[in-house]
Amino acid sequence: MEVITTPKEMTAWSNRQISANKTIALVPTMGCFHEGHLALMREAASRADRVVTSLFVNPLQFGPNEDFDAYPRTFNEDREGAQASGVHVLFAPERSTLYPEGFSCNLVVGDLTKNLCGGSRPGHFDGVTTVVGKLFNIVKPQVAVFGQKDFQQLAVIRKMVTEMNWDVTLIGHPIVREPDGLAMSSRNKYLNPGERMSALCLSAALEAARSSVAQGERDAEVIIEKAVECINAVKFTEIDYISVVNDLTLIEQKQVCSSSVMALAVRVGKTRLIDNGYLVAIPVRSIYET
Ligand code: AMP
Repeated sequence: MEVITTPKEMTAWSNRQISANKTIALVPTMGCFHEGHLALMREAASRADRVVTSLFVNPLQFGPNEDFDAYPRTFNEDREGAQASGVHVLFAPERSTLYPEGFSCNLVVGDLTKNLCGGSRPGHFDGVTTVVGKLFNIVKPQVAVFGQKDFQQLAVIRKMVTEMNWDVTLIGHPIVREPDGLAMSSRNKYLNPGERMSALCLSAALEAARSSVAQGERDAEVIIEKAVECINAVKFTEIDYISVVNDLTLIEQKQVCSSSVMALAVRVGKTRLIDNGYLVAIPVRSIYET
C-alpha cells in the first residue's frame, strides 16, 4: 500500500490506473479506524480493481465549538488497518494542499441539509460536500463507499452526485455495531465507562420504536415518544433530535411506512452520538445502492 500526501500525486496515480483500464473505489474517512471503516474498505475492494482511502480530518465540517482539535488522530494504526483491508492507496493530504491560503469555494446542497444533523450543526454538510467534491475530482473514482451510519450525509452526497452529474456509483454500507448494539464511531473513544453504558440507549431506542411498529403502531409521534422514554431513562443523556423521516427526501413523516427511517442524535456526557434505522422490517427500497 502506498501513502500519498498531495492531490497532484494522487491524480497522477489515478490517471495511471485509468490508462491501464483499472476501476477505482474511494472510501472517504477522517481516520481513527474501527471495524466500520474497515468494512467499507473491504466492500470497496470487492467492487473495483483499486481502492483509495482518504484520511483527512476536514476542518470545514466542524463548527467553531466542535471537537476539531480533539478529534482522535491515530495515523500509524490507521495505516496498518487500511493495508490489511485491501487498500492500495492511503491518501492523507496536508490541510494546506487541499485548502491553500485564500481557498473560498463552497459546494452547497441546499435541500436536505437543513434538518436533523444540519439543524444542529449549521454549515456541517457544506463542509462535507466541499471536501467530497474535491476528493471525487482528485481521485476520479467510479465507485464511492459511505456508511449508512451517516444516513443524512449519504442522502446529501447522493443528491450532489445526481445534480452535478458526477459519474460515481454510491454504495451505502450498513451500520457496523459493537456486539451490544452501539454503532461504532471514532467518537466512542471519548466515552467514560458510565457514558459507554448510557450510550446503549440509542440502539435501544431504535429497537423500542421498531417493536412498537411491529405491534401495529403507525403514529410517528407515539413511536418517537417510546424512543424518547428510552433515552430519558438513562443517565448523562440529552436528546438533540429524534425524527421519523422518508429515507430519500428526509421529510418528516406523521405515519410510519416502509420508507420510514428513525434518525436520532443524543449527547452522552459531552459526546454527541448518532444512529438511525428503518422502522419497518423489510423496506421496499434500501439505500444500500444507488
Ligand atoms: P468518519 O471517519 O467518521 O467520517 O467516517 C468515514 C466513513 O465511515 C463514513 O462514510 C461513515 O458513514 C462510515 N462509518 C463510520 N462509522 C460507521 C459504522 N459504524 N458503520 C458503517 N459505516 C461507518
